[in-house]
Amino acid sequence: MRIAFFGGTFDPPHRGHLELARQLLERGVTDRLLFVPAYDPPHKPDREISPFADRLAMLKLLIAGESGMMISDIEQRAGIRPSYTVEIMRLLEAEFPGDRLQLLIGGDSLAALHTWHEAGKLLARYEILCCPRRGYEISRRTLSRYWTAKEIDILLQSILQMPFFDLSSTMIRNAITAGNMIENMDEKLLKYIKTKGLYLKETA
Ligand code: ATP
Repeated sequence: MRIAFFGGTFDPPHRGHLELARQLLERGVTDRLLFVPAYDPPHKPDREISPFADRLAMLKLLIAGESGMMISDIEQRAGIRPSYTVEIMRLLEAEFPGDRLQLLIGGDSLAALHTWHEAGKLLARYEILCCPRRGYEISRRTLSRYWTAKEIDILLQSILQMPFFDLSSTMIRNAITAGNMIENMDEKLLKYIKTKGLYLKETA
């Protein structure tokens, strides 16, 4: 079975994440979606991240009732600080013997992939599935600064033809901090955020 590793901060998880996951399953690009919330994200050091337990609980609410979607708390269990994707995926391979892991990322992550720990290894070892993101259009020219011609071919082929989902966790956090209405947000998730008092303080 193919399992798409979907790592992220998920602070909070949103409809964009869910839509990407649904599309991948519908298109038959993968067989299962594995959401892997980061425990101590190496890419987002400049703001305070919500507690892992809250991000995990929100992810559970987001994918409740969806088939083919799972969540792994491996980053919390692994105890590696900071936790690099390449290391976490290695550990997951042992948890899913016989399955094939793929790496799902958005266009913003693809644009920054060269900064990831052992990025070349990730590329060599896993099929990459990239969902385009507005503002992060990827071209051979931009990639050529960091990648070999062969790697560029792989990266360009990984970009799926699908619509943009214009939503980000930053947009949601900012809207909540400002007390604005949030469209397109799951009611149960919004209730959780309010009950826990998340994102009331300005952090970014
Ligand atoms: P933030 O606004 O805090 O940076 P985010 O919305 O990008 O958060 P993350 O949890 O950082 O959410 O994202 C996890 C993964 O999902 C990343 O690979 C990111 O590129 C991808 N992703 C998130 N939202 C979208 C979107 N709307 N379209 C495409 N990819 C997305």
